[in-house]
Amino acid sequence: MQVNELKLKHFRNYDQETFIFDPHINILIGNNAQGKTNVLEAIYLLSTTRSFRTHKIKELIQFESEFGFVEGQVESNKHDYDMRVVVSKQGKKAFINRKDIARTSDYIGYLNAILFVPEDLSLVKGSPSARRQLLDQEISKISPIYMYNITKYHKLLKERNAFLKMLKEQHKEGDLYLDVLSEQLAELSADLIKRRMDFVALLNEMSGTMYDYLSADEKLTVSYHTSYKEISKEAILAKYHKTYKRDIIYMSTVDGLHKDDLKFQLNNNDASLYASQGQQRSIVLAIKTALLEIVKKEIGEYPILLLDDVLSELDDQRKMKMMNLIDHKVQTFITTTSIEGMQHASIAKAKKIKISHGN
Ligand code: ATP
Ligand code: MG
Repeated sequence: MQVNELKLKHFRNYDQETFIFDPHINILIGNNAQGKTNVLEAIYLLSTTRSFRTHKIKELIQFESEFGFVEGQVESNKHDYDMRVVVSKQGKKAFINRKDIARTSDYIGYLNAILFVPEDLSLVKGSPSARRQLLDQEISKISPIYMYNITKYHKLLKERNAFLKMLKEQHKEGDLYLDVLSEQLAELSADLIKRRMDFVALLNEMSGTMYDYLSADEKLTVSYHTSYKEISKEAILAKYHKTYKRDIIYMSTVDGLHKDDLKFQLNNNDASLYASQGQQRSIVLAIKTALLEIVKKEIGEYPILLLDDVLSELDDQRKMKMMNLIDHKVQTFITTTSIEGMQHASIAKAKKIKISHGN
C-alpha cells in the first residue's frame, strides 16, 4: 500500500498544502513545532479516521476555521482510491472515492498504517490498557468483524454497568435483563478472546524472529493473559452468574476481557519489571516490525509505516537493521529534526521534505 499524494486543508497548522510522496522512504525534516508530526497525524487520520494524539477531533481543525480535511490518493495491489476524512465542529465524515462511508468498520482497511511514536516505549512498563488498546487496534485493522464485535462489547458493557447500578439502588440481586446482557457479553467474549489469542500467537512468533534479528541477546516471548480458565460462551456465562452479587455491589462488571493483558518476557523474565530502556525500545521495535509482517500475511500487502521521532533514538546498528527491514518493501514516513548521522543507502535515496511553519 502507498499514499501517492496527500492534500491538507485547514488541518492543524496547515492552511492548504499538497504533498507528493515517494513509494519508499519519505523523510519530513524540520525544526520543532513546524508541522512534521501533523503530517503523520493526517496520514493516520486518513487510515483510521482517528488521531493518535487526541480524542477531540475538533483540535485537528486549523485555528479559526470551521472545518478541515485530509485527502489522499492511495494505491494498493487491488485498486487506487481517493480517501478523504473531513473534520468539522459537528464531527467527522469519511469518504472513499467521494462516497460517504457511515460505519468506521467499513472504512478501515483501505489504507493500513503501522505507527511508532515515542510514547509507545511505555507499552512495556505502562498500564495494561495501552497494551489492550494495541491489541484491539491492530486486530481491527485486519479483521472488520473483530472491530465490529469489540465496539459492540464495550457498548453492552456500559449498558450492563449502568443496569448494575440501578439494581443496587433498587436493592435487587438479579434480574432477567441482567441475564440477557450477560449472555450477550459471554457470547461476544468467547469470540473476541479466541481472536485475540490467535493474533497473539502470531505476534509472538513474528516478534520473536524480529527481536532475534534486532538484538540477538535474549529471547522475546509475548503471551495473552486472561482471567478465564476456559474460553467458551458457557464457561464465561457461568462465571458471570457466580459473580452477580459482587458486580452489583461494585456497580461494575469486574471480570472480563476488558481486564485482560499482554505480557512480554525476555528469557522468561517479566519485561514489565526487568527490561532496561534499550530492551524496551527493542521490544517495541520488534512488535512494530512484526505487525508489518502480520498485515502482509493477513491481507497480502505491506501497510505503510509512520515513524515519529523514533529513528534518531536508535543506536547505529539497530537503525541499520531497521532500515534493512523496511527497505523497498514498506512505504515509510520518518520525521526528524536532522538527518545528520543517518547513513543508510535508503536514507540517501529517500525523498526529503522540508517542513517550515506548515509549509
Ligand atoms: P517537534 O519536532 O517539536 O515534534 P513538529 O514539527 O512535529 O515538532 P507538530 O506537532 O507537527 O510539530 O506541529 C506543531 C505546531 O502545530 C505547533 O506550532 C502548534 O501550535 C500547531 N498547531 C497544532 N494544532 C493546531 C491547530 N488546530 N491550528 C493551528 N495550529 C496548530
Ligand atoms: Mg513532532
